[in-house]
Amino acid sequence: MAHCNEKYLNLQSACLFDEINEKQNAYKESHPDADIISLDIEDGTQPLAPSAAEAMKKAVDEMSRGGTFPGCGPEQGYLFLREAIAKNDFQSRGCDISPDEIFVSDGEKYDIGNMQEIFAESDIAAITDPVYSPYVDSNVLAGRGGKFINGAYSKLEYLPCYEECDFKANLPQHDPMIIYLCSPNNPTGTALNKSNLTMWVKYAKQTGAVIFFDAAYEAFITEPNIPHSIYEIEGAKDVAIEFRSYSETAGLTGLRCGYCVVPKELMLETKKDDKVSANELWKCHQRAKFKGCSYIVQRGAEASYTEEGKKQIQAALAAYRENAKIIMDACEESGLNAYGGINSPYIWAAVPEGMTSWEFFDFLLDKAQVICSPGSGLGLCGEGFIRLTSFNTPELTKAAAERMKKALKEL
Ligand code: PLP
Repeated sequence: MAHCNEKYLNLQSACLFDEINEKQNAYKESHPDADIISLDIEDGTQPLAPSAAEAMKKAVDEMSRGGTFPGCGPEQGYLFLREAIAKNDFQSRGCDISPDEIFVSDGEKYDIGNMQEIFAESDIAAITDPVYSPYVDSNVLAGRGGKFINGAYSKLEYLPCYEECDFKANLPQHDPMIIYLCSPNNPTGTALNKSNLTMWVKYAKQTGAVIFFDAAYEAFITEPNIPHSIYEIEGAKDVAIEFRSYSETAGLTGLRCGYCVVPKELMLETKKDDKVSANELWKCHQRAKFKGCSYIVQRGAEASYTEEGKKQIQAALAAYRENAKIIMDACEESGLNAYGGINSPYIWAAVPEGMTSWEFFDFLLDKAQVICSPGSGLGLCGEGFIRLTSFNTPELTKAAAERMKKALKEL
């Protein structure tokens, strides 16, 4: 009999979502008429931007005609999209990023999960706590996890993000070579400012570490002092890889499109003390494992950079921002300390005194029929918090906020 890869048996994060589903299903069984509202949605729910839909219809027509059928595209992504990305997402902000440093994929999760494969298994990975779980899982599968003891993997370096430090991590202690930073952050909603990011870039330059900068929620930034890209920081091209998604902007959630930037300046060390280009290694990775994001979807993503597309995306973002405000206001009125929601679709709320994250989850399910994500399932430092998201419809978000306020009044 073939043998299983034991590293898969070491994964823990699926437990949170399984447990939420189990509790929700059990509640539905005992309360068949319950009208549950989910405020734990992680994906965009606004419909596809009309300009993206139009561009994709046109692309289907092109593919349906002989002579214009584009066939299999380049693994790295079509040049038309990579040029639009370089110009609109980076050069317009003064970042010197060129199309050959951009790799288009079928969603950011693929890139952020796989990028660690071009690094040595012996390199330590650092993650913030609480955390977006794919950072942890992909490293556990790569053998960088170690034993799971008391809620933490022994070989990962956890960077605690406490309320007292605005949920921003301090510098690591164990010389990690891979550092995951997510800004605006999922789950805490915190956004790193220029001086925070400058500190991380300086640290990475000093130690030789590489920053994996997850900017999936960059479009949600509203405050002027928050960089949209890590490459707005001097020297970041030597030390950082950036990841972006179209899921919550152009509404491409289910259609799948994202990209990463691997700068040409970024070098990794070989065992023989030589240097090798990370950009070249990622090209090899993609050649070996990926065959490109579909032409149709890439045309949809390209449409998000037209004037019309930009306006439509802003309209979708405005709806999410309004939802975030409704949730923040409900928390404030109910006396819960809540964070995020300004540069981010995520609201991180402290639970009432004396309760754990799961106890508050149970309370909200039972008394308000609202589902949240218990913070303790997103990391040890998440205990005492819940995550609420602005991705439901405005009507259901308002209804959930009213129910929460009523339930908390009676607590
Ligand atoms: N990064 C973060 C922090 C996310 O929250 C998500 C989506 O939930 C992703 C990446 C994945 O993005 P995509 O839909 O492009 O795979």
